[in-house]
Amino acid sequence: MARLDGKVAIITGAASGMGRATARLFAAEGARLVLADVNVDGGEQVVSEIKATGGDATFRRVDVSRGAEVEAMVTTALDTYSGLDVLFNNAGIEGESTWLVDCTEENFDRTIAINLKGVFLGLKYALPHMAQQGRGSIINTASIAGLVGWRSGAAYSASKGGVVILTKTAALEYARFNVRVNAICPGVIHTPMVERITGGGEAIDRLKGSQPMPRLGEAEDIAGMALFLASDESTFITGAALPVDGGYTAR
Ligand code: NAD
Repeated sequence: MARLDGKVAIITGAASGMGRATARLFAAEGARLVLADVNVDGGEQVVSEIKATGGDATFRRVDVSRGAEVEAMVTTALDTYSGLDVLFNNAGIEGESTWLVDCTEENFDRTIAINLKGVFLGLKYALPHMAQQGRGSIINTASIAGLVGWRSGAAYSASKGGVVILTKTAALEYARFNVRVNAICPGVIHTPMVERITGGGEAIDRLKGSQPMPRLGEAEDIAGMALFLASDESTFITGAALPVDGGYTAR
């Protein structure tokens, strides 16, 4: 029996990076999926790949910073697959990299709207259904930048620190309904986001050398943790903010 047999999962930010790797792994483990992203071409491509390997997935264009779209995303899962067991609130942006005093109000607001309010909206619309059915697992993508300060990332680290504490609050409110809420705090993971931030090439090699384990994480490292949290192997874990960072925050 596969580890997510019979489960219905929504993954946001599923067109790229960690969301895409998690969609592939969840599908391979038997989940039926609603994949959400603002990147329509990328999202539909992931759905095609999953269907080509015998999986079951549906794409929906969703901007996670918009309540009505997030609510419709949850409804899509309920209408298409008659339930919702797992929500991976993973969509996010890096925002602009500047020192705090140079961070514009626009950059601050946009980063918070997608990274933090997006997670809030996912929780807001998924929790009532999960509570009613008496089970569910919500996984939020925070960051090591939500656990330790991050130079040149005031808005980003504030958004991810917010995700960590939102996770704990939701976990406390819904524990009695057997709904678990956890956060993954990725370290530096080699995805298109990190290619954009660093410019790629030698900068990636330098970054590897500065990590306790001298490599970057791969999207599959995060997908593996998401699978564990989505599965029935983690039924007593809630309110946790779990670093997957090759030792970065151990220092
Ligand atoms: P990525 O850029 O490869 O993927 C992010 C996806 O989110 C993209 O497909 C993008 O289109 C989507 N997205 C952006 N804004 C959206 C919106 N408003 N609504 C819906 N979808 C939207 O990046 P990634 O590295 O896979 O990042 C995934 C998550 O992990 C993000 O929350 C990111 O902040 C977090 N994270 C990344 C790293 C890293 O090193 N890559 C480290 C810590 C945390």
